[in-house]
Amino acid sequence: MTETRTPVAEGGCQCGAVRYAFYVPLENSHACHCRMCQRATGGAFALLVGSKTKDFAWTMGEPAVFASSNLASRAYCRDCGTPLSFSYNMPEARFYVTTGTLDHPETAPIIIQYGVESRIPWVKFCEEIPSEATGEDPKAAEFFKTMASNQG
Ligand SMILES: [Zn+2]
Ligand SMILES: [Zn+2]
Repeated sequence: MTETRTPVAEGGCQCGAVRYAFYVPLENSHACHCRMCQRATGGAFALLVGSKTKDFAWTMGEPAVFASSNLASRAYCRDCGTPLSFSYNMPEARFYVTTGTLDHPETAPIIIQYGVESRIPWVKFCEEIPSEATGEDPKAAEFFKTMASNQG
């Protein structure tokens, strides 16, 4: 398949085997403090930014994918282990990459924080950025009730 679109943002894993591109401006740059993102990234929180799935493509290599729950998948480089993406298993949902894997993460300042119920108390980070707890929105709460984690 030949890609004819012009990338707006690109990035990839630390070893360079897997690369990706977005073809529209990045949306909803955020930190997620939830336990699942902490474990998936090995960090105190995940930094994620994305677009509609149709405006994203893997452009080099093929990542491995772990279904961290019945609702979501996380891609990572099978060679170097870099956590690369987070996406709900819904075509209309945004496809997120880990902000630190962008070639220019400085172009994606965070605008919201999620999962603040699991925010580690000593994490003093962008405290002026608006935040919400997982399931704070009643519609999201219904969705998260259907989640079964595959994390150990
Ligand atoms: Zn890699
Ligand atoms: Zn999370």
